[in-house]
Amino acid sequence: MPVNFVEARRKLLEDLKKMGYIKSDKVYKAMMQVPREEFVPDDLKLYAYEDRPLPIGYGQTISAPSIVAYMTELLDPNVGHKVLEIGTGSGYQAAVLAEIVAPKAAPREAWGHVWSIERIPELAEWARSNLERTGYSDRVTVVVGDGTLGLPDEAPFDRIIVTAAAPKVPEPLIEQLKPGGRLVIPVGDTWTQDLLLIIKKETGEIEEVPTIPVLFVPLIGKYGWDKEQWR
Ligand code: SAM
Repeated sequence: MPVNFVEARRKLLEDLKKMGYIKSDKVYKAMMQVPREEFVPDDLKLYAYEDRPLPIGYGQTISAPSIVAYMTELLDPNVGHKVLEIGTGSGYQAAVLAEIVAPKAAPREAWGHVWSIERIPELAEWARSNLERTGYSDRVTVVVGDGTLGLPDEAPFDRIIVTAAAPKVPEPLIEQLKPGGRLVIPVGDTWTQDLLLIIKKETGEIEEVPTIPVLFVPLIGKYGWDKEQWR
């Protein structure tokens, strides 16, 4: 029997709401709009609405839906925001963010934009094709490079989200955050990582709020891990 992906999606999101991962209507609606089955390899589509990370090749993963929901709630993006994501992977998290900052229902002038950086060129290309097929290519720009350097040409950003684990918060990302902006990033080693919410106050003062323990693949780059160091 063919799978009813929309029903499976609704059921998963209802569960994530009951468990407290989804708190707001905006995150629920955004995740209801984005077809996660289009952002996983063909042979894993059946598992798209199980709450778990899935392999996407090159040793990388698409994060579990509960983590995407939790990080998006912490980030608190709004219509019109300029968002930077480090770690495009499949493009799924970027699409969820685009639904919130640039909803189709809003006039185009009010749209924000998502820039997403991926270090593995083949994954960036796959993410671009996923985003194109699902209708997000005018709201998300995928860039190949070392995201630990940020994206100085497009800075400053209202929101920055890092979807790989860093040894410490990369300084360029703090610099490229607007006053009043929020940065969400997992920090730690292979065994223990804390998901941090960094708030840059209007005065420029930085507040760091640890939230939940998480497990991500490494952020590899100038202000991240180098491959040999990660253990
Ligand atoms: N957000 C993704 C999604 O929705 O599918 C999942 C991201 S996956 C957990 C982490 C990604 O970060 C991997 O694709 C990895 O190649 C990428 N990555 C690691 N270090 C990076 C860096 N310095 N710059 C850009 N991407 C990086």
